[in-house]
Amino acid sequence: MTVLEDVDAILSYGDCCDACLGRFFGKRSHGLTNEERGRALRIARVIERHEPYVPPAGDCCICGGLFDSLDEWADRVVTALEELEYVTFLVGTRVPPLLAENEEMIWSDLSLSHAEPMKSEMNREIGKRVSAKTGRVVDFKQPEIVVVLDIANRAVDVQRSPLFIFGRYRKLERGIPQTHWDCRACRGAGCERCNFTGKQYPDSVEELIGLPISTTLRADGAVLHGSGREDIDARMIGTGRPFILEVVGPRKRTIDIPALERAVNESAAGRVEVNLVRPAARSEVETLKSSRSHKKYRILVEVDGVLSDDAIESALSALRGVTIQQRTPARVAHRRADKVRDRTVLDIQYLGREGAGVLVEVLGEAGLYIKELISGDGGRTRPSFAQEVGMPARVTRLDVVLVQDPTEEENHGTSQRSAEEDAV
Ligand SMILES: [Zn+2]
Ligand SMILES: [Zn+2]
Repeated sequence: MTVLEDVDAILSYGDCCDACLGRFFGKRSHGLTNEERGRALRIARVIERHEPYVPPAGDCCICGGLFDSLDEWADRVVTALEELEYVTFLVGTRVPPLLAENEEMIWSDLSLSHAEPMKSEMNREIGKRVSAKTGRVVDFKQPEIVVVLDIANRAVDVQRSPLFIFGRYRKLERGIPQTHWDCRACRGAGCERCNFTGKQYPDSVEELIGLPISTTLRADGAVLHGSGREDIDARMIGTGRPFILEVVGPRKRTIDIPALERAVNESAAGRVEVNLVRPAARSEVETLKSSRSHKKYRILVEVDGVLSDDAIESALSALRGVTIQQRTPARVAHRRADKVRDRTVLDIQYLGREGAGVLVEVLGEAGLYIKELISGDGGRTRPSFAQEVGMPARVTRLDVVLVQDPTEEENHGTSQRSAEEDAV
């Protein structure tokens, strides 16, 4: 069949608009819009047959008039994006299946192999128009905004891509979890026990950092991805713990690092402190969470008995540089697989006495359980401080003083273990 015979066959299904007619041949020639192509085909047919030109009737049997309303759709998108800060965007289209079937039936009846689907013409034509009206740029790879045209409901859905910020935090107060926990009693619904907040703890590091930032960027919320986590009762001091904050659905995208840092440090003063370093990419989150960094802890140890400085020193030197066998601690056994792990105590130093306690600094391989290193965990951890001194011992205070930055320094971890295993 010649192209004009195909045109005759297509129009025998009913009159269609120039855009829909041209789209049946969309991949046959470039440099024309489908509408121009359709109009050219209609004219070629007139010239060959010496018939008068008849424009499309305006009641398209394929798109039902959708391609007559491109400017209207573009205006709808521009209005939906009015309040947003963005440079790049991408248009997607949800075509009702019944509409798509109109053209798909003709493709297969006539074995047309150069047709373009309705969806891709909509995406391109609306993208061009929005770009012309707003001066913003279509980006296929990493658009800041994705607009989905919901044809059936004559509506547009706007998806705002998240922003990522890399930094380090210090947690100066004990009792704050790293991320928000739903109330155990009501699972977040809100009840008397949680004072109808839905939360197990009133604050979290995630909220103390995330809230001022998501307020400034007019976002829907923020998620904190930490390079491991400290226990709720541990402080995180020293140079701080590396993290990436994911800002969800921001309406503003200008990241003024010093201003955001100030906003957090003022509102969380004395509790959490951040050093925001730079904007980050989504791909860095996985690296940060899966990398295993060494950590240094400062702990206060209490012993049931009296120990001389010499006894302490000799117990610590029996642990220094030694590989410890740790069976999953009793306190976490209900949520982690029961197995024995080998972890090395890279360094351990006696710092002196504090009250009745002994102050110790430990540099541990990633995943070393510090509390059990001291207590022995009923024999599940060997060797241990308690075993070496021959009397019960326990950690009564724990601070993390150093977490290596996995994105900036070489990672000395022996293997890629799950960050969930991060232990203190
Ligand atoms: Zn049409
Ligand atoms: Zn509750």
